[in-house]
Amino acid sequence: MPSPLDMLFHNMRASLGLPSYVPPTDEEKGETARAEAARIEGLRLEREAFLAAAPRYALGDGGFARSERLMGRCANGNEADRGRVFHVVAEGPDGKALCGVKEGTRSVGWTGPSEEPASCPKCLARLTKLGGTQC
Ligand SMILES: [Zn+2]
Repeated sequence: MPSPLDMLFHNMRASLGLPSYVPPTDEEKGETARAEAARIEGLRLEREAFLAAAPRYALGDGGFARSERLMGRCANGNEADRGRVFHVVAEGPDGKALCGVKEGTRSVGWTGPSEEPASCPKCLARLTKLGGTQC
């Protein structure tokens, strides 16, 4: 028994002179779901490998940080430093840069972990002062 939605598709296609709509079988749906699960697992593994290779900093207090750039407005994509400075930003949803730089009200925010090592002199000086190291 076709569902009301299948009947609607059938009637719409028939009114346009198109061949009848054939809904995917359970086997086809399962295949699609398996392919999607495999794609998501591939992305997860790729992300894990990226994070393992990206620089990570131990802050000396048990916390960790990553190298990140500060993005500016969407209009130009980069902050005043033109996105060339990589700060040491604590991991977590509300991570802050060690040097204290903050995003502006119209900023896009932090880029997320980068494969480039931190280059902000203030962040690196504070990291040294805290007894932190790159790990
Ligand atoms: Zn910094």
